[in-house]
Amino acid sequence: MIDFEPTNDQLAIQEMARKFAREVIRPAEVALDKMVDPDEASRSDIFRNTIKQAYKLGFHNMGISEQHGGLGLEPLTTALIWEELAVGGIGISATLLAGAVAPRFISIMAADRQELIDKYVRPYCEDTEGTNISAWGSSEGNIGSDGSNYYDPDVHHETTATKIKDGWVINGVKSSFVSNGSIANLFLIFACVEPSRGICGSGVFLVPLDKGVNRGKAMDKIGMRALNQGEVAFDEVKIPEDHMLMPPGDNYPVIHNAIKTVGNLGVGYLALGLMRAAYEEALQHSKERVQFGKPIIQHQAVAFKLFECFQAIEAARGLLWKASWVLGRQFMGDLKMSAAARVFATNMAMKYTVEMVQILGGYGISKEYTIEKYMRDAKLLQIMDATNQIMTIKGANLL
Ligand SMILES: Cc1cc2nc3c(=O)[nH]c(=O)nc-3n(C[C@H](O)[C@H](O)[C@H](O)COP(=O)(O)OP(=O)(O)OC[C@H]3O[C@@H](n4cnc5c(N)ncnc54)[C@H](O)[C@@H]3O)c2cc1C
Repeated sequence: MIDFEPTNDQLAIQEMARKFAREVIRPAEVALDKMVDPDEASRSDIFRNTIKQAYKLGFHNMGISEQHGGLGLEPLTTALIWEELAVGGIGISATLLAGAVAPRFISIMAADRQELIDKYVRPYCEDTEGTNISAWGSSEGNIGSDGSNYYDPDVHHETTATKIKDGWVINGVKSSFVSNGSIANLFLIFACVEPSRGICGSGVFLVPLDKGVNRGKAMDKIGMRALNQGEVAFDEVKIPEDHMLMPPGDNYPVIHNAIKTVGNLGVGYLALGLMRAAYEEALQHSKERVQFGKPIIQHQAVAFKLFECFQAIEAARGLLWKASWVLGRQFMGDLKMSAAARVFATNMAMKYTVEMVQILGGYGISKEYTIEKYMRDAKLLQIMDATNQIMTIKGANLL
């Protein structure tokens, strides 16, 4: 059986992540959250310097194999790191998670295409400036949850990939939800090749930032404001033949669900770290704030709420670790397990960030404290990368 004892190496890297999260990510997130214009936030020195420092420490390439220039860390080690980073802030952490999607996908799905590895994966892994950031785009105006609607021939991506003699031409618009959409320089795009096959008629294409790629304004939103999200439009963008990473066809659901399995873990660890941040702040406050002549933690109603939050954190971590452990042993992981972990962790994060605000009373809703931010951030996690309802349907179908 497995145990819960991290190795010395894991403890060292976890400590490094904890320090970076508290000293760099958290103050940056708080400042970025307060910026009124989200475009200004993504262009700001605060954002750029934070990403640059994260790249210098290698937090951008942890899951990419050593053979391709990454750190090659296995899922249970990255689990410890993502949790710590997310305690600092889930906007910056999500920027790093989404930013790695395209190089990671190439490294796994096109491992034998040396040209692509040399052109996109190695420079990304070696980047210490934070200038190479990727984004992935399935969502469109009419494709939200329908991205998982594999068997209705009338539902397909409106972004198209048309075959030409020596490559493909991409046209269409991906929605303003695309993480890193207005700052990325490499896009992993789901585009329709054979409309008669519905969503399964889409392939996965690699589109570098080039002539015809237009990045939109950053979306203004209630939470995760440090994460840039923006529309990306493709106007007659020509890409080489080998930039099709996955052809359309019956394999679509398998690959899409494998992406979701990994995505679920990322979202789950964001939720876990967020919940811990809220819990730690509320716990400290409850020991300092005196009402009715004693610290409020000595009122059972308050202590019970904190203990329930502690239970939720431990339970979410247990589920997530199990799903990460399976991913480390099994090529595509286990969708049912990762969906269970993600839905549980994000629902608990939503529930307990609200409860932790309650423990701070009036201070909880003041912008002078960070706890109200955690509550706003939590809502996005129940929607990100497919909603919890869609993930529940997927998990239930696998029972
Ligand atoms: C923080 C964040 C980051 C994101 N990053 C990206 C990204 O990088 N790239 C990208 O392509 N997209 C991204 N998205 C978009 C995300 O994938 C979609 O928002 C999500 O899939 C839901 O689509 P929608 O918003 O269009 O909602 P809709 O699909 O319109 O759903 C609306 C509501 O109806 C419910 N619903 C729909 N169909 C069903 C059904 N069959 N049964 C039960 N309920 C149903 C949904 O659960 C939801 O509650 C991101 C979203 C967020 C919040």
